[in-house]
Amino acid sequence: MMFSYTQIANYLRCPRSYRLRYLDGWQEKDTRAGMVFGRCFEQALMALFCKEDPQARLFQAWGAYKEASFAYKNGESWDRLLHQGVHLLQRFVQDNRVCIRRPKQNLQVKVVRSLPCGHQFISYLDAIGTLDGQPCILDWKTTTSRYPDGPQDILSLDPQLTSYSWAKGISDVAIVAFVRKQRPEIQYLKASISEEQREEFARLVESTVYQIETGQFPSHGGIRFPQNNCLSCAHLGICLKDKQLIETNLVRKAGASDLDWLDELVD
Ligand code: SF4
Repeated sequence: MMFSYTQIANYLRCPRSYRLRYLDGWQEKDTRAGMVFGRCFEQALMALFCKEDPQARLFQAWGAYKEASFAYKNGESWDRLLHQGVHLLQRFVQDNRVCIRRPKQNLQVKVVRSLPCGHQFISYLDAIGTLDGQPCILDWKTTTSRYPDGPQDILSLDPQLTSYSWAKGISDVAIVAFVRKQRPEIQYLKASISEEQREEFARLVESTVYQIETGQFPSHGGIRFPQNNCLSCAHLGICLKDKQLIETNLVRKAGASDLDWLDELVD
């Protein structure tokens, strides 16, 4: 079997949700405008590093969703997201802090690691390049709220960055956060992941895969902040037996488990 960071994180958040998503095939519908826009924006970034027109690529990719019935939040609209995206691309070019050599090899880098239990772990790194001249793994994020500025080194505790560092064996990692707010902003956040953290992550993957293989899927619910797993869970309708919530948020796809690793591409 092929596992990914998204699957491991999903299991640790709530094993019951993992079973519903990956074994029973209940997938969340693509109705979140921000998430779909994020994918289109990443295509524009790829175009930029491949010396193509990033704004044209963004317009083309996001244009495919102009008539989509998204649930826009907080006064957002298709036009507003496009405008924010163009502004962020211009700012990113002006900043000129990220360099990706040989973009065809170093963008969307697929890394597969064999696990001791015989399974495999797949990662897709957004990019391997330099930030301010320092080599690192780069992760693009589009978000509506800023990442915290401190305390110092807080980013080194991010499990997804740890998984990328473990997958590729590179200590230095960075998030480039494209913040879609009134005045769009880009954050360049660096972290260093230690060998000890990578080893700990490897053990976490092994123990999680063991629990999945042995069919342990208890629910880890929670509705109080900040442990509000259920309120933000796509599978809430199934747990509440609420037909309308199920129809609004989910679609059931037979055989979904064969393609689970593709989740990594959209995370
Ligand atoms: S609604 Fe809550 S208990 Fe049910 S799968 Fe989601 S997180 Fe788990």
